[in-house]
Amino acid sequence: MSRQWCKHYRGMHEKEWCEAGVAFKELPGFGFQGFFDTCPCFGPNGSKCDKAEYPTQEEMAEREAERNSRFEKIRKAREAIVSHLGGPWRRGAPGANGRIDCPACGGKASLAFSRAGYNGHIHASCTTENCVSWME
Ligand code: SF4
Ligand SMILES: [Zn+2]
Repeated sequence: MSRQWCKHYRGMHEKEWCEAGVAFKELPGFGFQGFFDTCPCFGPNGSKCDKAEYPTQEEMAEREAERNSRFEKIRKAREAIVSHLGGPWRRGAPGANGRIDCPACGGKASLAFSRAGYNGHIHASCTTENCVSWME
């Protein structure tokens, strides 16, 4: 299940305010040890924040389903690339690149890929909008 972070939280790195305009330094315990255990940004069981809004169970389930579907598409696309290349990478194999029909969206030769010769990592991207794209 995805984490129940506040909807206004987009990280603290090099940021002073969250998306709802709350200054992180105003939160209880900010800068002290244990702050991250009680920070309301990370869930409804933390300290109180008036602007906090957490996703509902339904929204979390929806996100989880979207994520799973995205992973499944990538898994299928990767499998098709590996099969197109004659099987899993082996040390000494030359690098390769090309295009194949995309098993995720059915696009004709829309899935462009490359597989590195030195470690077998695959980079791929489908030209169909919102379809798969990943780098290893
Ligand atoms: S809990 Fe409060 S400070 Fe944290 S992201 Fe949500 S609104 Fe901003
Ligand atoms: Zn596609």
